Amino acid sequence: MKKVAVIPGDGIGKEVMEAAMLILENFNLSFKYVWLEAGDEAEKKYGRALPDETLEEVRKCDAVLFGAAGETAADVIVRLRQELKTFANIRPARTFKGVPALHENVNMVIVRENTECLYRGLEFEVADGITEAVRVITREASERIVRYAFELARREGRKRVTALHKANVMRKTCGLFRQVFYQVAGEYEDIKANDYYIDAACMYMAMRPQMFDVVVTTNMFGDIISDLAAGVVGGLGLAPSANIGEKHAIFEPVHGAAFDIAGKGIANPTAMILTACMMLRHFGYPEYADRIEGAVEKAISEGKTTPDLGGELKTMEMANVVLSYVEP
Ligand code: ATP
Ligand code: MG
Repeated sequence: MKKVAVIPGDGIGKEVMEAAMLILENFNLSFKYVWLEAGDEAEKKYGRALPDETLEEVRKCDAVLFGAAGETAADVIVRLRQELKTFANIRPARTFKGVPALHENVNMVIVRENTECLYRGLEFEVADGITEAVRVITREASERIVRYAFELARREGRKRVTALHKANVMRKTCGLFRQVFYQVAGEYEDIKANDYYIDAACMYMAMRPQMFDVVVTTNMFGDIISDLAAGVVGGLGLAPSANIGEKHAIFEPVHGAAFDIAGKGIANPTAMILTACMMLRHFGYPEYADRIEGAVEKAISEGKTTPDLGGELKTMEMANVVLSYVEP
């Protein structure tokens, strides 16, 4: 039995969570769902965006399924990632038939290191008008993330892992990352390994994104290139993500609370539903994930979508179409 903390949060987080849970609860999986509060509304109610009771409960859970937090996002989701030590940020980017995008037939997964690099928070004001930031790259964290990428490739039947770095300029930090990458790659003879400089990779991503299968990179490069990848395949309403640690995992759509459309029932539930599918794969239910993803693809290809993708359905109407398309 896996315990899953369900945190809808704010804005459209609540609406898309209701849609994803409609589908999850349709299956008889050995999950126990624990509904918890966090975000702007929790802060108004309890004075804390991430109440102690929520954090305590989350620690007892195997995973968090998270909707969105508004103004308090940093206090909630960034804090949860740190507290639960989720070292890998996984962001798939793929095209869907029926969704206008810059390219066709794109299907990649970006594996981003989530704990170090320039985002460690080691920023200093050295003197008035002079600031600096320290970029930390360790063998341990690099090896852990690279190994995760190769294991993911094997598990998903993917053929290639590509490392992105800037080792010609940052010879020590990126140099170490590249060295560790090829060391680990040597243990996976069934999977091709190559590397690009991050700047060149951005050009390839814009022009020929089909070149990429699994991409592994350090924290800041991963942050930037995963948004680029999401843009290349059609945007925010479709982008799921996962944060994976040794003991815990957090699954969340890439989009936020989107207050401009909140409360109208028109948010696209796709990113949240695909996020739930990532959780199903994580817990060893790939066949369920395949069926739900197939149903999402069918709904989108028939134009049975929310207005952001040109359809006329409400959030829960689309969720019900997806549910009815899930193969028995
Ligand atoms: P936050 O500050 O929490 O990130 P935001 O206002 O920046 O929220 P995002 O959720 O990041 O909003 O998304 C930016 C815009 O994209 C939204 O304002 C909304 O118009 C659109 N959008 C995002 N997600 C969805 C969705 N699931 N369905 C439809 N439109 C969406
Ligand atoms: Mg935003």
